[in-house]
Amino acid sequence: MPDSIHALEAQRDDILRQMTRLGDMRKGSITEAFRCCGKPSCACVAPDHPGHGPYYAFTTKVAGKTKTVQLRAGSRLNKFQREVDAYKRFRALSEELIEVNQALCDARPEPDAASQRSALKKNLAALVQEEIRQEVEGLLTRLLQGASGAVDLEATEMAIRSSMHHMGGVLLERVLAEDLGYRGPSVNCGQGHQAGFVDYRSKRLVNVLSDVQLRRAYYHCAACARGVIPGTPNWTSSRPRSPRGCGA
Ligand SMILES: [Zn+2]
Ligand SMILES: [Zn+2]
Repeated sequence: MPDSIHALEAQRDDILRQMTRLGDMRKGSITEAFRCCGKPSCACVAPDHPGHGPYYAFTTKVAGKTKTVQLRAGSRLNKFQREVDAYKRFRALSEELIEVNQALCDARPEPDAASQRSALKKNLAALVQEEIRQEVEGLLTRLLQGASGAVDLEATEMAIRSSMHHMGGVLLERVLAEDLGYRGPSVNCGQGHQAGFVDYRSKRLVNVLSDVQLRRAYYHCAACARGVIPGTPNWTSSRPRSPRGCGA
């Protein structure tokens, strides 16, 4: 991975960390104003007098309408100020976050086949490990329940064997489920024609490990009058029984 990607990722992490520390945010702004009271006898009528104040007001838009809260200098104003500042900071960080993400999108290369495979492997491994964990737990529960007296060797062996088969079946099913065989609206039938996608078809495969449910995209070539199922593994022990006339 290029250094720039690492640097951008670090920058993104930093922005996200800063966001978590913002605290309470309030959308809106605080204005400070000096006003003339309008009494003709008051000193504020003089043109060089700044007016009375400062007066503070918090304004925000709620459902399109401006809402104003008058504030006096003190703890309430300070609290509003903190909240408004946090919101401003959040907006600035959001902009930065978007920019960094856009740069990351541009910098990151398309995943190559190898890294896609390794990501797939990781996902599959996690799924299968969970299945295996549950299976082993169930198996141990069953075995230990029966272990009060003499161990029935044959029954224990059978239980372990069927568990192992089940796990193998799960693994196989997951691996097969990763490719549904869809290759776009049409594929080459192998004889130079285009076979059109029809639908997805399921079938149950009986193999050495266990029964496995297989789901695949089914294409049909009108010229050859036969079905095509891309990506169908070649079974040496038990080939999938294909839908009518499919020779894939
Ligand atoms: Zn005045
Ligand atoms: Zn054909």
